[in-house]
Amino acid sequence: MKRNLLLTPGPTQIPADVCAALGRPIIHHRTPQFQDNIKEAIEGLQYVFQTKNEIYLLASSGTGAMEAAVCNLLSPGDKAITVEGGKFGERWTELCKAYNAEPTVIEVEWGTAVDPAKIKELLDQAPETKAVFVTLNETSTGVVSDIEAIAKIVKETSAVLVVDAVSGLGVVDCQTDKWGVDIVCSASHKGFMLPPGLAFLSVSDKAYKVIEASTNARYYWDLRKSKKAFAATDTPFTPAIGIVVALCESLKKFKAEGIDNLLANYGRLAEGTRAAARALGLSLFAKDDCISNVLTAISLPEDVDGGKLVKTMRDTYGISVAGGQGHLKGKIIRISHMGCIDEYDILTGISCLEKTLKELGYKFELGVGVAAAQKVFNA
Ligand SMILES: *Cc1c(COP(=O)(O)O)cnc(C)c1O
Repeated sequence: MKRNLLLTPGPTQIPADVCAALGRPIIHHRTPQFQDNIKEAIEGLQYVFQTKNEIYLLASSGTGAMEAAVCNLLSPGDKAITVEGGKFGERWTELCKAYNAEPTVIEVEWGTAVDPAKIKELLDQAPETKAVFVTLNETSTGVVSDIEAIAKIVKETSAVLVVDAVSGLGVVDCQTDKWGVDIVCSASHKGFMLPPGLAFLSVSDKAYKVIEASTNARYYWDLRKSKKAFAATDTPFTPAIGIVVALCESLKKFKAEGIDNLLANYGRLAEGTRAAARALGLSLFAKDDCISNVLTAISLPEDVDGGKLVKTMRDTYGISVAGGQGHLKGKIIRISHMGCIDEYDILTGISCLEKTLKELGYKFELGVGVAAAQKVFNA
């Protein structure tokens, strides 16, 4: 039987006890039992989000939480700022345009992070800006943004700061309250080690006031409904019951390990992966000053077909990594180290990468990548 190791940036691997929780018989959601689950899930999420803000559960993938933020905050014609340094930054712009808002786009070279001063400049020019949309971990490039510095700037204005932390939350630091982030969006199938289908977002009082004042049409994503339900430990519509139940199991792991230890561990896995890539003579796509611990984007030599590399690793050897998106298709691979992953998973992935690179004719000494990662893991 073939293995299926997921080193992809969503979905991620699901631990055995979380799988077991997913297999439990379904319970009804308008019951005290499920209310206990909601309570436990919210408390656990508040721990991972590092916030006391209310957190709303949505039955959707991560983009649903992003759309909820946009359609609740912005009315047609409202000004917003978006940062595009990859596929997911572009999604903020597309969402704003879909709701007839007017985003000013900061274009950032892929592989680099936005300079927070750029955001300040635009906010100074247009103080009526309603919201600033940024990405914690840009999954298409492996770049992490300096949310703390951005929050410091946005906090001083009337604008609301919205962070797409779908892939970053629970993997790299995001101190929602301490930094002052108004809305943080995330989802079940990345750092939280669950199947897709559940999204969640935290909302500050500042953001909620803008939500209430907005005249935009909304229904399923109406966060005013979510707030009302939240007060009654309920959800406005049928929630993703099974995933909420399993989320409680996943969140126990965050509590048991401690968020700081978890983040440090992902840092080590990332460092090992980076060391392996360098030892293989490959370069990292993201610049050093903004490189992310969520996933490692590795640039491939010109004569290696990235599509074939990913396909061979997956279909022949049962190890899934991600290829490039947009103009990076075929040119990079992305190895994720988020969720239920340990150093032996990374070593397995790297040894498979070595084998496949050899088959595709790339010249290097077999084992150097694995050895470099081992050195980091054994330090
Ligand atoms: C995965 C991801 C999303 C959401 O994608 P869905 O397919 O809707 O879950 C959004 N932003 C980032 C940075 C992501 O990695």
